[in-house]
Amino acid sequence: MLLDSVPACVDMQTTSDGFLDIEEFRLLTRALFRNDKGKIYTMEEEKFKDIFNVFDVNSNGLIDPNEFIFCWNHWIKIIVRPISAFLIVDVQNDFISGTLNISNCSAQQNGSEVIQPINRILETVNFDAVFYSLDWHPSNHISFIDNMSSRDLHPTSKVTSDNVQIYDTVIFNGNPPIRQRLWPRHCVQDTWGSELHKDLKVVENSLKVYKGTNPDVDSYSVFWDNKKMTDTTLCAQLRLKNATDIYICGLAYDVCVGATAVDALAIGYRTILLDDCSRGVDLKDIEKTKNTVTKNNGIIINSDQVKAMVEGRDRRPELGYKLAMELKTNRHERYNE
Ligand SMILES: [Zn+2]
Repeated sequence: MLLDSVPACVDMQTTSDGFLDIEEFRLLTRALFRNDKGKIYTMEEEKFKDIFNVFDVNSNGLIDPNEFIFCWNHWIKIIVRPISAFLIVDVQNDFISGTLNISNCSAQQNGSEVIQPINRILETVNFDAVFYSLDWHPSNHISFIDNMSSRDLHPTSKVTSDNVQIYDTVIFNGNPPIRQRLWPRHCVQDTWGSELHKDLKVVENSLKVYKGTNPDVDSYSVFWDNKKMTDTTLCAQLRLKNATDIYICGLAYDVCVGATAVDALAIGYRTILLDDCSRGVDLKDIEKTKNTVTKNNGIIINSDQVKAMVEGRDRRPELGYKLAMELKTNRHERYNE
């Protein structure tokens, strides 16, 4: 009975007794993890077994009907019908043609190139929620190189006011001492530089998230400031929407986009980074960002793949694995709910 509600994409012919052994579960995952053209994604055997073990809660080598209900409610349902949020990070004038124009950084990338693919996504994909983050600094912000003299340096800071250069990292006095990279003055609240680029489409019912508003702590991630003292409104908004998947892109790839993706994964979201909708500062750091996201079970895709994933027609095993690993950490409480 319980298996009647399994969608057509999951072929359950072999499960008439209501118990799934590992080979039957394999068939289920092969039906589940396919792209929109029906091509089956391969999954490493090790990871497949990890997932089976998460749902075989009593470790008897079978997923019994109660365990399957848990698997169905907390895993399959989300894979087939994810709740997706789109998070567009800091597509602001200063990063594109203003004081912190990223094309002047070592990777020499052009920030305006993200606008067209982001707009195309916004025009063609129906997200459950859309967020625009804005770097939003007060004039006396700690990250501005011209404010350096207004704070005391820690004795261990190798960079001092005599030898400081833009993009250097200094250590300010504090408890604990504060490591801070120094940037040109940028994204000052209510200035042209802090506005979203005029060509970026802003959709109805979207939300803006402001970060870096505390003068004494920088904020790369859209979730938290760099010291994790306060969170932005994003966490609460995502919970309110019951979001399961977060698509992240924007500026700069290896700074705010990367930090946001790492936090999204750490909080437990299925996280998708959009490569062709992001531009960065330093090529090596962009590479590092990609590796970190992939290592933590996030994925990196291009904008033309978003729609099928949001609609649940393209279902990636990496994201299924990520979700299963999240369930594993508090499986026993949730299983008994
Ligand atoms: Zn900033």
